[in-house]
Amino acid sequence: MTLFPDLVDTVLGSSIIGRAQEGGLVEIHTHNIRDFSENKHRRVDDTPYGGGMGMLMSAVPIYGCYKSIVEAQRETDESRSEPVRRRVIYMSPRGKVLTQKHAYELTKYDNLIILCGHYEGVDERIIEEIVDEELSIGDYVLTGGELPACVLVDCVSRMLDGVLTNEDCWRGESIASGLLEYPQYTRPYDFRGRLVPEVLLSGHHANIEKWRHEAALKKTLECRPDLMDGTGVGIDIPEKTKNSEEEQKNGR
Ligand code: SAM
Repeated sequence: MTLFPDLVDTVLGSSIIGRAQEGGLVEIHTHNIRDFSENKHRRVDDTPYGGGMGMLMSAVPIYGCYKSIVEAQRETDESRSEPVRRRVIYMSPRGKVLTQKHAYELTKYDNLIILCGHYEGVDERIIEEIVDEELSIGDYVLTGGELPACVLVDCVSRMLDGVLTNEDCWRGESIASGLLEYPQYTRPYDFRGRLVPEVLLSGHHANIEKWRHEAALKKTLECRPDLMDGTGVGIDIPEKTKNSEEEQKNGR
């Protein structure tokens, strides 16, 4: 739910997430909140009660937009044998900061409805009425929730089955693995006198793995020592996901 659907469509229509949409692996629909304005000038904002800087998005068109999404989905929802797991998220600098772990939890929902704020934000009552959680993409403030929503959708979508070649593509990466990734190299072997580490040319898989693990530890200690405080930012893939991979291989 946004005032700038084109922005979201452009970002998420490109590259890997664009292809995932074309392949039917993820469905992304943008809904223009302005279409639900009850004002003859299609206004969606107003001044805040009590005074203060800027304009606030009114609760009324956001609620209309939300109701229309839920109504449109009702038929699909009713045809399902299990209840639809839906979550409504408001992108907001006040929210909990998004982590890979939390994004992974969100992959378990069938349907995420994301509200993008603008101006000074939204009327608090729409949050109370429809929002399950507020999520921030970092401790800084942007002009609108569209880019944060794209960040969230990209991060969640690439962990869905089939979007990347396989789960290992994201499971072994920085953060998800619990460490930062080891340095990687491709051709040419010699780039301005900087050579590729010899071990990577050796073909000795055990030594390569050992080198990579040590390099990942070194990089993490250098750049993000906080990741090694034992709180575990990595993602434990539950057995269920591993089993369902096995089941897919066995054609079940
Ligand atoms: N007045 C609000 C405050 O102080 O919390 C900030 C409003 S901000 C200028 C406008 C919109 O951008 C917000 O409603 C939110 O949707 C989005 N936004 C800005 N920074 C964000 C962040 N770090 N994470 C997620 N959304 C953000």
